[in-house]
Parts: sequence; structure tokens; C-alpha cells
Amino acid sequence: MASDFEATRRLFHLPDGVIYLDGNSLGPMPVAARARVDSCVADEWGEMLITGWNKAGWMEMPARLGDRIGRLIGAAPGSVVLGDTLSIKVYQALASALELRPDRKVILSDTGNFPSDLYIADGLVRSLGGGRELRTVAPEAVEAAIGPDLAVLMLTEVDYRTGRKHDMARLIAKAHAAGALVVWDLAHSAGAVEVDLAGADTDFAVGCSYKYLNSGPGGPAFIYVAPRLQSQVRPALSGWLGHEAPFAFDLDYRPGQGIERMRVGTPPVIQMAALDASLDIWDMVTMADVRARSIELTEAFIRGVEAACPALTLASPRDPAQRGSQVSFRHKEGYAIMQALIAKGVIGDFRAPDILRFGFTPLYTTMADVTGAVRVLKEIMDGALWDREEYRRRARVT
Ligand SMILES: *Cc1c(COP(=O)(O)O)cnc(C)c1O
Repeated sequence: MASDFEATRRLFHLPDGVIYLDGNSLGPMPVAARARVDSCVADEWGEMLITGWNKAGWMEMPARLGDRIGRLIGAAPGSVVLGDTLSIKVYQALASALELRPDRKVILSDTGNFPSDLYIADGLVRSLGGGRELRTVAPEAVEAAIGPDLAVLMLTEVDYRTGRKHDMARLIAKAHAAGALVVWDLAHSAGAVEVDLAGADTDFAVGCSYKYLNSGPGGPAFIYVAPRLQSQVRPALSGWLGHEAPFAFDLDYRPGQGIERMRVGTPPVIQMAALDASLDIWDMVTMADVRARSIELTEAFIRGVEAACPALTLASPRDPAQRGSQVSFRHKEGYAIMQALIAKGVIGDFRAPDILRFGFTPLYTTMADVTGAVRVLKEIMDGALWDREEYRRRARVT
């Protein structure tokens, strides 16, 4: 393995006494992010003021960092751009795809999709009207539900609850054969599994930067549009920075060149500085190595938990080829068990109704983290240490 994961781990700030298995929800802070953000604030914003847009290259950051992410997801330079939040990027991609299939009415998704994606699709269907409809089927039933009425297949590759992974290339081929377009959400794929957007002939993809890519809370999302579609796409969120000439201040909208047209408004410069620092670490590894290491870690965790904690039921696919970089177990007291784990320094999260979720992120997760987490989980289960009122009290964020 050419990637040195001991070296990458040293480049993250990980609090003492914590085993962090939630980088699938919020990546930890790259050590260099602090100085990078500080320099962005003090040297750029502080000293350059508005001239920073030109002098510090702020205006080019969404495309420059988009290309850096592109390397991790099989996207050619010039096909990824940053901005906004993932929910907004889902709206943008879906609206653009629907507009390219005006005579078709159906958006197909699955019941394992993240609710925000489904809510966004539902809202878009309501505002477009015209008989459009969002259809959701069980994840296993997606392939059979692809038919000649399909406008857009909109899926999240890796299920946020169970880690189940769709066969992206196969579903894309099937959707294209039916004359439909595809929108893939890579929230739990970018930096987690190998993705080949260009090779799989994806039309649109979106994802976030604050999960596996470690840009910090509220970091911007990204959007991919296949180069062959970029000149046809008419952005529904036609903001001024997606205009061909924003500083001409024309009264009419003309879409910008290529992927630039998927920009909307002013990008979050300080947050992008943190992402830039994280992407320096990503430059040290290959996704093939990350995936191989992720499988070693998740396999060891499943073996360990199943041997030590028989009361927990595996909710993720057993075959590593069928899952992303997370492992989920079910237990009816899952919430309280997770709070007990967090109190003992093992941080994962809980997803209703009964899922304990653990993310494995080779850049900084070690085999010692895996064995440590299993040991603490066993202690909690053996001693029923979760059975306390304070662990049952639901916080706002679970
Ligand atoms: C994390 C996640 C989101 C979150 O969207 P935001 O707009 O960034 O809050 C959306 N969709 C999926 C599939 C996710 O995993």
C-alpha cells in the first residue's frame, strides 16, 4: 500500500482519550486547517479586504477545489464546482435533469435515501406541477422500477443508515437504456469508496465536504455535471455567479461556461480555506488504498462486535463489496447505548429508530481504535451501563 495512513493520522487534531468513529457525519479538524483559516482571516480578509477576491484567488476557489475533489470521485477537471449546501445542490441537479426530460414525469428514488433529498424532490415536484411525481421504492426494488416513463433516477449511493451500497454503474446503464437521466448523491461516497463518475457515465452528482472530506461544520457542497451535458444544462437557481459575465451586471441571465453555471452566489471563502487544508492530506493517498484499508477496518469491527456483543444485530451488508465505509448495528436501546459509548469516549451516532452507526475513515482510524471501541462496547453491554435515565434523554442532534 503506497498510502501512509500513520502519516495522515498525525495531520489531524484528535482529542485525547477519544476514539472517533463519526467522520462519516463530521470529519475532524486537520491540524493545518487552523493556520490556514487564520491566514485567510488575518492576511487575506484582514489585509486585502475586498481585493482578496482577485489577489487571494477567492473567486477561483469553488472550481479549483472542485477539481481537487474531482480526483477522488473520477471526475475530469472542470466538471465539479463547490458552493451552497448539499440540499441545495440536490435541488439544482434534479431541476436541471428534469428540464432535460420535459416529456417525462417520474422521479424515482428509494426509501433508504436521506430524507432531505426526498423532501427537496417533493418540494420541486410541487412547485413544477404538470403531473410530475416522486416515486420511492425499496432499495432492492429500484432496478425493476426503472421504466419508459422515468425522467430522473435520483439515488444516494451509500445508505446513511445501513451503509448498503448501490451498484452505481449498473443502475446508470439501466436508466440510460430507458432514456432517463441520473442524479447521484455521494454524501457517503466521496472519500469513502472508489467512485468513477466519468467511467460510469454519470449525468449529475452531488455531495458534501464536511463528512469524509473534513471541511468542518457547514462546509460547502459540490456538484458534478458530465462534460457532455454542461452546455445544455439551464440552472434553475440562476444566480449571478453562475452568469456568463457576473460583473457586466446585465439584466438578463446567460449561463456561464461549463460547470461555472452551477454556481449560485458568493461562496464561503473561510470554510473553503479549511477544505483546502484537508485536501492537502487527501493528496497523499489513493482511493484504492483508502477503500482497501476501510474494508480491513470494517471487517475487523464486525468480527469483534459480533463475537463480544451478541445482543447487537448487524444492520449493514455482510459482504464488504455491498457496503460503504460505515457499519451499523441495531438494538432497541440503541440511543442509550450510543450515549453511554460517547460518555466513555467512543463517538459514533444514532439514527432512528434503532441504529448505532460507526464510520471508518482510514486517514485517521486505526486498528487500535477498532479494538478499543469493541472493548468499550462490550463493557457497556455486559454491565448494562447504558441503562440510565440520562442516556435516554434525546438531544436535539442525535
Ligand atoms: C448529510 C446528507 C445531507 C445533508 O444535506 P445538507 O444540506 O448539507 O444539510 C443530504 N443528503 C444526504 C444523502 C446526506 O447524507
